[in-house]
Amino acid sequence: MLCRVCRGSKLTQFLDLGFTPPADDFLRLERLREPEVYYPLEVVICDECSLVQLNHVVPPELLFQREYPYESSTTETGRKHYYSLANDVSRHYNLSPKDLVIDIGSNVGVLLAGFKLRGVRVLGLEPARDVCATANKNGIETINEFFSESLAQEIVRTRGKARVITGTNVVAHINDLHALVRGLDTLLIEKGVFVFEAPYLVHLLEKLEYDTIYHEHLSYLSLAPMKRLFENFGMEIIDAQEVSIHGGTMRYHVARGNDFPVDPAVDEYIRAEREKGIYELEYLRKFACSVERHRKELGWMLQSLKQDGNRIAGVSAPAKGMTLLSYCKIGRETLDFITEKSPLKMGKFTPGTHIPVVGDSELIERMPDYALLLAWNFADEIMKNLDEYRRKGGKFIIPIPEPRIVG
Ligand SMILES: [Zn+2]
Repeated sequence: MLCRVCRGSKLTQFLDLGFTPPADDFLRLERLREPEVYYPLEVVICDECSLVQLNHVVPPELLFQREYPYESSTTETGRKHYYSLANDVSRHYNLSPKDLVIDIGSNVGVLLAGFKLRGVRVLGLEPARDVCATANKNGIETINEFFSESLAQEIVRTRGKARVITGTNVVAHINDLHALVRGLDTLLIEKGVFVFEAPYLVHLLEKLEYDTIYHEHLSYLSLAPMKRLFENFGMEIIDAQEVSIHGGTMRYHVARGNDFPVDPAVDEYIRAEREKGIYELEYLRKFACSVERHRKELGWMLQSLKQDGNRIAGVSAPAKGMTLLSYCKIGRETLDFITEKSPLKMGKFTPGTHIPVVGDSELIERMPDYALLLAWNFADEIMKNLDEYRRKGGKFIIPIPEPRIVG
C-alpha cells in the first residue's frame, strides 16, 4: 500500500486493534447465523509526510451503501453544530442567493438546511441510498453518488461551479485523496473555498480516543500532512480552527494558492504538532501502550462489577463503540443489551459481538445497575435525556479517556 497523501511506500505500523467486522454493519436476526467478514484494523504512519492512516481498505461499497445506519440529525448537539458551521461560513464568505454550496457526504442534509435558511443554493452528495432519500424528502436536493472527478464535471455542466464546498467527517473516509482534490479544483469557482471538518489527530492521541479508529476512517488528519496534500495541487490551507464536537475536531479552510491570505494559525498548529512530538515513533508507541492499558482497566472494571452481581447494559451504539467492544472483547457475557435512539439500529445486533440493540426506553424499564456510555462524545446530552435512569439509582460508566463511574 502507498501513502494516501505523498504516495510514499515507507509506512510504519504502531497500533494493532486486531480484526473486526465493519463497525456500522449492524445485523438483522437472520444474519446472526451467517459468517461475518473480519478485516484488520492496523494503524501506520508515513515516514515521508507523517499521515497517520489505516493500512487496509475495506471496499467503500460495503461500508457506505449497504443500509448505512448513521443519521447526522440524531443528536441536538450535532444539529446545533451544523447550523453554527453554516452560519459561520455564510458570514465569513458573504454568501448570497446566487452562490452554490455543495456538501460532500451530506447525509440527511442537516448542514445544507442551515445554508438554505440563509437563502443560498444548495446541493448534497450522499452515497448511502436511504439516507439520501431522507434528505430529498426533507427538501434538500441530494445526488446519490460518491464524489468523483466525473461527478464534479457533470455538476459543473448542469448547475455551474460552487462558491463553497463543505465536507464534515468525510475526508478521512476517502481513499483516493488526490482524486478528491482534483475534483474540488474542477468544481470550485475562482476564489472558491473548501471547508472541511475532521477529528483532529492530536486529540485522538492526547485523549486516548482510540475507539474513533475503525474501517470507515482511513486517515487520521492533522495539519502537517494535509498542508502537503493540498500544496501538491496548487492549493493551500488558509485557515484552521478547533471546534469541540466529536471529542475534538479541526475545521480547515482550503483555497487555491494566493487567493486569500494564510492565517498564522495554520503554521502555529503545525509547529505545535511537531513540538508535541506526535509524528515521532516513540510518542506513537507510548500511545499504543496506553491503549493496551486502557483495555485492561476497562476489562477489570466490568469484570469486577459482574462478579459483584451487577447487571450492565450499553447506552448508544455509535460506530466507535463497536471498536471499543471488539478490541476490549466486551460481548453478551458482559452487556445484556444496548439502547439506541436511532431507529435504523434498533432491533438489530452489534457486528461481531451480537449484542441486541433496543430502544432507549428499555433502559428505564429494565434498570440495569450500570450503563456503559459508548457515545462518550455526547455524554452530557445523553445523560440529561436519560436523567430518569440516574434518578432511579442507575449509574453510567464513561469509558474514555479513563473508565469512570458517574452516579
Ligand atoms: Zn506520506
